[in-house]
Amino acid sequence: MNERPTGSLLVEVQPFLLQYKNKNYLLDTGLGFKNQKGELQIFENLHKHHLTPNDIDYVILSHLHKDHAGGISIKNEQHIERLAFPNARYFINKNEFEFAMQKGYPSYQIEDFELLKNDSRTEWLSTEGKIYQFIKYEESGGHCPHHTTFLFSGEQNEKVFFGGDVAPQLKQLKTKYIAKYDYDGKKSMELRQQFATIGKEEKWQFLFYHDITNPIGSL
Ligand SMILES: [Zn+2]
Repeated sequence: MNERPTGSLLVEVQPFLLQYKNKNYLLDTGLGFKNQKGELQIFENLHKHHLTPNDIDYVILSHLHKDHAGGISIKNEQHIERLAFPNARYFINKNEFEFAMQKGYPSYQIEDFELLKNDSRTEWLSTEGKIYQFIKYEESGGHCPHHTTFLFSGEQNEKVFFGGDVAPQLKQLKTKYIAKYDYDGKKSMELRQQFATIGKEEKWQFLFYHDITNPIGSL
């Protein structure tokens, strides 16, 4: 850690695996970094839970910045990209996809996700709606124009909230501030306050993508 170059940015990255009724949901896919064996880090993490990439049924994406979308696809030995989770359906906001394809580098690494464009496994999300009756999604904007958040309801009506980069860390829900890295910092701040208020009332479990200390928390 001490040897990292000055000016570099330390980001903790944490995709989530959610298991519900014998199905495996992956929430964002990480940076796409590989371990020393040349295997995707996220595959190694799945193996620790006795799962392979083939076991993922659904990939749900908050947005397509490279730290969230890097693991969507992987190059084979012939250097051809293929989807990393071959049996999964991929849920992504259509507006975010189109925006990302246009915007490109440096925020978006198009080669990570462009395969989704014409793949039958892609499920396009609109600005709000439901996935399989129990996942409510909403285009929140804030962090990027078409960032999307997800609220899962369990059988006992317990709530799990994945707020991607609008609610990336526990401490960010407790203090009021505007972040420079957000597309619309004021909106992100207001959204965080809304999420914190409703989340407290409804006893949400928050999944924090950029929080290794408190990956799962409630208020
Ligand atoms: Zn991020």
